[in-house]
Amino acid sequence: MKFFYTLLSMLFLSIPQFMVAQAPKEVFIKAGKLFDSAKGVLVSNQVIQVKGNVIENVGSNLTIPQGAEVIDLSAYTVLPGLIDAHVHLLYLESLKSDLSTEGIKAVVMEGDALRALRASARAKTFLEAGITTVKDLGNSGQFLDVALKRAINEGAVVGPRMFVSGPILSSEGGQFPGVLHKHKHLASEEYRIIKGKEDAINAVRENITYGADIIKICSNNTPNNTSLTIDEMKAIVNMAHRYGKKVTAHATDNEAVWEAVMAGVDGIEHGYEVADSTLKLMASKGIPLVPTDASKKIMAKYLEAQDFQGNKEETIKGILADQHDRLSRAIQHGVTIVAGSDMYINMEEPQGNAAKSVLVSYHEAGMKPLEILKAATINSAKFMGLENRLGVLKKGAWADIIAVKGDVEANFPETIFNVVFVMKNGKKYVGE
Ligand SMILES: [Zn+2]
Repeated sequence: MKFFYTLLSMLFLSIPQFMVAQAPKEVFIKAGKLFDSAKGVLVSNQVIQVKGNVIENVGSNLTIPQGAEVIDLSAYTVLPGLIDAHVHLLYLESLKSDLSTEGIKAVVMEGDALRALRASARAKTFLEAGITTVKDLGNSGQFLDVALKRAINEGAVVGPRMFVSGPILSSEGGQFPGVLHKHKHLASEEYRIIKGKEDAINAVRENITYGADIIKICSNNTPNNTSLTIDEMKAIVNMAHRYGKKVTAHATDNEAVWEAVMAGVDGIEHGYEVADSTLKLMASKGIPLVPTDASKKIMAKYLEAQDFQGNKEETIKGILADQHDRLSRAIQHGVTIVAGSDMYINMEEPQGNAAKSVLVSYHEAGMKPLEILKAATINSAKFMGLENRLGVLKKGAWADIIAVKGDVEANFPETIFNVVFVMKNGKKYVGE
């Protein structure tokens, strides 16, 4: 082996002597308004110089050379590509069903090949909706997320940048309630079932070996009823941090959030019933919350399809009031909000579009449009330690750039769906 490495490095060293590198393609983008995510403000009349896959420069007084390629977005608002911090591209649930039934169906009736093919079509809808980066947090069989990411990176499939978790580390049963004991192995086809501290350590090593960028755990297993212990979660966190990987926890009730926070996780998903005292602790430790909330429209459609028999209006009002209250309390206590849709339900529209309804839910809860955009760009990038590359339009960032038509501040819920331009990694996917 060593011989070949030596040979290879000699070849690379000699390349510049007989090859002239081709200059990366350059393009200038004129932006009517541009969202400066670091400052959280809109600025006017900016030009973005893109060289290859990177932003070379941004400013109001850039000179555009004669004959240079220009993309004129001066009628629009230009944003960093959106980041959805909580997706499941390899899993889709029918509106009428539930995670238990559909999860098992995915394992025993859908299978890896069909899941991956469907996911590749789904991935395209995210990119076309302006979501240029996703964090894919499990329910992907055994590392199908890693395969999809590879296919996208190779250009075989069109989709967003993916950061993937591999199988979710979970306690007995995973998130498949109602399975008979004799079929309990089914959960192991979708989750990595943890059996104690030593096993937890091995699970982290496994996931990292086979391609995980981040470790996702189920602090509690909702809708199932078991949970990891603080000691198991601590072991996971220590091991993941040893390899420079973040840990984020599915945690719905207050106890699950509190225990995950005490174990040292880096992020909390959902946190529907989190208490003020836990939110304060999260704020003091700099742990962000990913509120995977539903908009009014999505909630109404869901209850309609589920053939809900109670008072629909009142039920929706109650659920939304709880979500809004939790989001407001989190913001009030200084918790960073990272936008994540968890949109795994088939809303019978392009799935990437449906995913953006989470941003509308934040708006309905009273968040200001530019704060929502920060949650969907730079806050997410910061969590990944990539705030100089992602979720920001500045020199040195990857050229993930989108444009929307309309007034993003005055009419956020409509404007965010009017995506007229999408560029990912310097390549244009939507727009003339
Ligand atoms: Zn999820």
